[in-house]
Amino acid sequence: MVTYDDQNVFAKILRGEIPNNTVAETEHTLVFRDIRPQAPVHVLVIPKGAYVSFDDFAANASDAEILDFMRTAAGVARDEGVSLDAGNGFRAIANTGEDGVQEVPHFHLHILGGRVLGRMLPDFAG
Ligand code: AMP
Repeated sequence: MVTYDDQNVFAKILRGEIPNNTVAETEHTLVFRDIRPQAPVHVLVIPKGAYVSFDDFAANASDAEILDFMRTAAGVARDEGVSLDAGNGFRAIANTGEDGVQEVPHFHLHILGGRVLGRMLPDFAG
């Protein structure tokens, strides 16, 4: 059981305590630009509900929240011009926990695109 820290930066954004550059908003989902972009398109898709991680969200969010999240993420990729319909592709990343180097403990999906992103990781030496 993971405990949600309601003082994390994305919780503060959701409460309107700190500003964000909103790209899209629905009943269950908020999308805003990453403050330190690593590609021409770099947005963060977050659920409005208090979920720590990808696995917390998958296990505990409602079907409506999960559907809204996925459709909103794909819609933003299209609207930002990086989906296969609208552009040249993108990468969706959900860093999770310590090994995944997740800095903000509120589930978020990075959508990165607008340039060739290179290999995902260096080869694993074993
Ligand atoms: P992660 O390492 O997957 O937890 O990524 C957290 C991301 O949140 C990083 O890419 C940060 O640049 C981004 N970030 C942190 N604070 C803010 C903020 N106030 N507004 C937008 N993005 C932020």
